[in-house]
Amino acid sequence: MSLRKSPKRLPLAAYIEGVLARDRVILSRAITLVESKLDSDRELATAMIEELMPHTGQSIRVGITGVPGVGKSTFIERFGMLLCEAGHHLAVLAVDPSSQKSGGSILGDKTRMVQLSHHPSAYIRPTASGAALGGVAIHTRESILLCEAAGFDVIFIETVGVGQSETMVHGMVDFFLLLMLAGAGDELQGIKKGIMEMADAVVINKADGDNLKAAKRAKVDYQNALHLFPLGESNWSPQVLTCSSVEGTGLQEIWQMILKYKEQTQHSSYFLANRKRQNLQWMREAIQFLLQHAFFGREEVKAKAAQLEEQVAQGHMAPTTAAFELMRLFGMS
Ligand code: GDP
Repeated sequence: MSLRKSPKRLPLAAYIEGVLARDRVILSRAITLVESKLDSDRELATAMIEELMPHTGQSIRVGITGVPGVGKSTFIERFGMLLCEAGHHLAVLAVDPSSQKSGGSILGDKTRMVQLSHHPSAYIRPTASGAALGGVAIHTRESILLCEAAGFDVIFIETVGVGQSETMVHGMVDFFLLLMLAGAGDELQGIKKGIMEMADAVVINKADGDNLKAAKRAKVDYQNALHLFPLGESNWSPQVLTCSSVEGTGLQEIWQMILKYKEQTQHSSYFLANRKRQNLQWMREAIQFLLQHAFFGREEVKAKAAQLEEQVAQGHMAPTTAAFELMRLFGMS
């Protein structure tokens, strides 16, 4: 790894002191550092995380997902305000697979949560655009740690109800909340069964006005559906609640439920066991990511890979043979 320092970077001590002093500007720069693809930044980021580790872990980490339009940003804004008004410090991070392609950010956007973004106890970090795909999980986890070291006791990780991002977010939070709508027709359509199975709570949003009745009906339907799933290792039976993010109803109950989950799983030791397992998973993912990064970063490999890809594409070489040849070049077989 190169030892060259990027000129925009601060000395290590300045990041540590700034984050611990809850300085928002430094926190943002620290997150930018962990998001960086530069080898020199990675070294600095790793040293920073290492030093901040003793100050992490004290928050409740909540994953929030749901299809676009379900009301995620309205919910986070209203629910977040309630928590901040009650004396909590809330950080909102986002994992948005679509921003990899578009380069823009749909989630975690401050313009979507205007009131919350101005609250002195809230911190909203928009999705990093153009982040290295395999690195998203790593830098989001590191961002969680940074926010914890900066004194945030509630962390929301927002993601969108499509693709692989749910599994990723589920692997880094304590509590996973699925926002849904009382739809017309089959209430269970539109969301994959696998996501339902991961949920610690299904919250039916927009339970207001003409929609109130349908929301109550949907609640019963989801309760029945969730009963069919066997209880997970946490022994927690997933709850179904309704809320209106616009009117602010049902939100207090959601917070009480999260607290109950925390108490119950801490009592049963699941809470910590789950975090330990997540840390091991994180380590394994980091190894995979770093290996790939090192592999394709090697000039000889890069040059040869292009050539072999062509041969594989043409059917002149078996894919495994090409992979082995590159591994030999890398010095691993
Ligand atoms: P997101 O794409 O999941 O972030 O959804 P938004 O928060 O942007 O909300 C999509 C639309 O639903 C907006 O027009 C919101 O005003 C509306 N909305 C969100 N929550 C509620 C709610 O609780 N009740 C009603 N009636 N509308 C809502």
